[in-house]
Formats: sequence, structure tokens, C-alpha cells
Amino acid sequence: MATTKTVAVVGAGLAGSEAALQLAHAGFHVTLHDIKPTQQSPAHHEPTFAEIVCSNSMGSLQPSSASGLLKQEMELLGCHLLTLAKQVAVPAGNALAVDRNAFTQLVTDTLHAHPNITVMCGEVTELPAADVVIVATGPLTTPALAQTLSKLVNREQLFFFDAASPILTRDSIDMSIAFVQDRYDKKVDSHLDDDQFASEDEGSYINCPFTQPQYEALVNFLNTAEKVPLKDFEKDTSFFESCVPVDELARRGVETLRYGPMKPKGLRNPHLPEGSFQQPYAVVQLRQDNREGTLYNIVGFQTNLKWGPQAEMIRLIPGLENADVVRFGVMHRNTYLHSPEVLQPTLQLKAHPHVLIAGQLTGTEGYTESIATGMWAGRNAICLLQGDAPLTLPKETMLGALLAYITRDEAAGKKFQPINSNWGIVPAISGVPRRVLKDKREKARLLGEQAITALTAWMQTHPASGAFKQAVGVTC
Ligand SMILES: Cc1cc2nc3c(=O)[nH]c(=O)nc-3n(C[C@H](O)[C@H](O)[C@H](O)COP(=O)(O)OP(=O)(O)OC[C@H]3O[C@@H](n4cnc5c(N)ncnc54)[C@H](O)[C@@H]3O)c2cc1C
Repeated sequence: MATTKTVAVVGAGLAGSEAALQLAHAGFHVTLHDIKPTQQSPAHHEPTFAEIVCSNSMGSLQPSSASGLLKQEMELLGCHLLTLAKQVAVPAGNALAVDRNAFTQLVTDTLHAHPNITVMCGEVTELPAADVVIVATGPLTTPALAQTLSKLVNREQLFFFDAASPILTRDSIDMSIAFVQDRYDKKVDSHLDDDQFASEDEGSYINCPFTQPQYEALVNFLNTAEKVPLKDFEKDTSFFESCVPVDELARRGVETLRYGPMKPKGLRNPHLPEGSFQQPYAVVQLRQDNREGTLYNIVGFQTNLKWGPQAEMIRLIPGLENADVVRFGVMHRNTYLHSPEVLQPTLQLKAHPHVLIAGQLTGTEGYTESIATGMWAGRNAICLLQGDAPLTLPKETMLGALLAYITRDEAAGKKFQPINSNWGIVPAISGVPRRVLKDKREKARLLGEQAITALTAWMQTHPASGAFKQAVGVTC
């Protein structure tokens, strides 16, 4: 492609590698920067690019799953890393799992071998001077570059602890102690489809009521229990104020939890005699975690305690003495932008349209999602270099829905949490009888069909779809 315009990709992780391959295959010369191999983040261990830092699974390949549909769309759109992943796949049932070392080596070799890619090693702290820049430095972007990005988007800070509360099984909760009820008897999840969550006539929450001595015992325990030591790179990271770990809240004062996640207001313990003061001294609330209603998470109980002490903490919650915990709470640093405020669905920064963001920095989460947004940033960088308008995918597609979701206007000014591909973000199917939609498999099949039909039509009618096909045809 004859152009004098320059393009740089910062970060050769999953997103950046895919973006660079998109550009290179479309004929653009791209400079790809990565801090590796001389330095690396505390979660990366290999000198190679596109490193898979944890599980070696890229999720389901089944089109009836959200992640599977996303992969199907990525294949149609000409994703390179998926092709490479399949070359080094290992048996994993219906999922796409890779030999992690073979994958990262294959991607690295492919990037180095491409005549249109120049790899530059070293930390990037300021954006490179290029006509188009893609930033894809991931959840562990170095602090200096994170600061540059903060200034660029005019936000004070970008990185937060990503927190998850413990999850336990519904049938291990002692309902002779706990009770189902919503605060002030208001059903808070009433906006959800009936089939999205199992219904409880009396409310959506399970409440575990505390007496004062039980509450004080929990606070004392939290103040002395052993925590996971912060890694060096996490020490200067802040908490979301609405996502502070319970052990930190307990440290702030004996009453803090009772005015926070454990507040008892608007709740009556039906196990106590009618006519008595039924409001508990404090409560722990549990919220349904899966559609089947078999799992519940502990609301607002993100914690940094070690797993042994977490199990002990849960046993101190009335009604959870014999709880069967399926996942303990975890916290790790995660760097991402407040995309609803700063990003367009094309992945361009609103304030700097020549800068595109890809990967986990966009507020999407997961390997496949990172590759997908890398592919899309690459595609839109090509549009910008060609002088064309950047592209927006139909919202019926999983990738289009994901991009629309992370950049939705109504989330501006509100808390923004990273998200995976999921069925909840794609538009509902109109004209299909409700009883059909109650069947989860059938609903997923129809949503998948709707997505692929929309994508195929879009590719046929859209002038840029030829470029996608060209990219698909090239072997990596
Ligand atoms: C500890 C941990 C465990 C995870 N486990 C899973 C999991 O099991 N499954 C899953 O789906 N997702 C998991 N994730 C999320 C996963 O990181 C992302 O899904 C994905 O790797 C992010 O892709 P990315 O391209 O945005 O960033 P990365 O893949 O992290 O790539 C970013 C690249 O940028 C480089 N870089 C960073 N800063 C600079 C700089 N200043 N200058 C130059 N280069 C720089 C890095 O060296 C790296 O190569 C995990 C994340 C973490 C942190």
C-alpha cells in the first residue's frame, strides 16, 4: 500500500500482535514496540510476544457460547492470531486451548519474519511520533506509560484493583438462619429478563443476619487475618472507593462495615418473633451468580485475605457455617481506561482520534476479547491511513456489542468495570415467542444466527469488507 503515513503499535501482547499483523498484511509498514525482552511486567515470564499469562485456554469454540460466537466472527473478519492458535492447539474438548510456549514462539517468529513489521524493543513512556498509534500495553502497562495515557485522556489515574468476591453454592446456605428479602422489599433486579435469573418470590437477595457480638467477632477476625502480600507493582495502586476490600474496611473502624456492605437498613429477620425489633445488627447479603441460581456471591466482600483465612471468615457469617465455597475472592492490579468517557466504538480516543486503544486497556477482559479488539484497532488504523472513515460493526454481533457496551454514553460518570463477551450485551431477538427464548440453548442459537447474518450482510455491503477478505487470504 503506497503511503507516506506512519503507524506504530505499542505493546506486542495479544492485542498489539494482532493489530500489527492486520496492518502488515494490508501492506502498511508498522513499527511494533514492546518492553520485552530486556524488561517485562511481573506477570510476564517469557521474552517472547503474545504471552498467555495464566490459563492456556482461550475459551469455548462452540457457537452457542458468547466466546465461541466471538471467535466465529473473528474468523470471518480475518483474525490472524486465531489461525496461529489453532496451529498449536492442544486437546480441550469444545474449547480452544494452546501450547502456551509454542503459541508465543509462533507469534513472535511470525512478527519478526514479516517484511512490513519492524520490532523495537524497550519501554515506551511517551507515545511514538506517528500518524496513527495503537496502544495495547495491557493490564500491566508500565507506570510511566500509564501516566502518559492519564494525561492524554485527562483522567487522574487509570489503574485499579480488580476485585472478586467469594462464590458459594446455594444449597450449602443454612436457610434456617439466612432469609430471602430485598431491602425495603424492593426487587432491585426487576430490570432483568425473567429467564435471566431464577426467581425468589420474596426477593433477589439472601441475607445473613448478625447480632452485635457476631459482627464484632467478624471485624476482629478481619483485622488479624493473614492477607496476600501486595506485589511490588501493586503497592502504589488505589482501590475503587466502591470496591474496597472488606479487610481494608474493617481496618478503617469497627463501624465502617455496618455503614457499608453490611448495612442492615430496610431488612427484617423473619426468623425473629413478629412484633420484636427484627432489623439485624448487620447483614451479609448474597446475590445470585449464575442463571441457574445454584451459585451465589457475597455482595461487596472482595478481599485480599489468603484462602485459609477466607474460609474461616466465611464460617463466621451466620448461615454460612457449612458453606461450600467454589471460588475465593481475589484482587490484582488492572490498568484500563474509562472507555465510556474517552473512547469511541471505533476504538479511537475521542480527544485524539489518531490514537487507538486495543486489548485489556479498553475495559474488555480475556484473551479472545483482547485479540478481537486488537484486530479491530488494526482494521480501523488501516482506514485512517487510507483516509477512509473508521468502521463500526453491527450491534447484533458479539464484537460490535462489546465495543458498543464499553463505549456506551450512559456509563459516563459512573463506575466502569471490565467485561467479557456475554449474551447480556447483545440486543434481544424480536418476534420470537417467549417460550422459545426460555430455552437457553435455543436462545443462544438464535442470537448467534442473528449475529452472523448481520455480520455477513455488513461485510457484503460495506466497502471495506474487501480488505478483510484480502487479509483472510494471506497465510501467516
Ligand atoms: C495475572 C493475570 C492473569 C490473567 N489470566 C487470564 C486468564 O486466565 N484468561 C484470560 O482470558 N485472561 C486472563 N488475563 C487477562 C489477560 O491479561 C488479557 O486477557 C490479555 O493478555 C491482555 O492482552 P493485551 O494485549 O491487552 O495485554 P498483554 O497481553 O498483557 O500485552 C501487553 C504487552 O505490552 C507490553 N508493555 C507493557 N507496558 C509497556 C510499555 N510501557 N512499553 C512497551 N511495551 C509495554 C508488555 O510487555 C506486553 O507484551 C489475566 C491477566 C493478568 C494480569
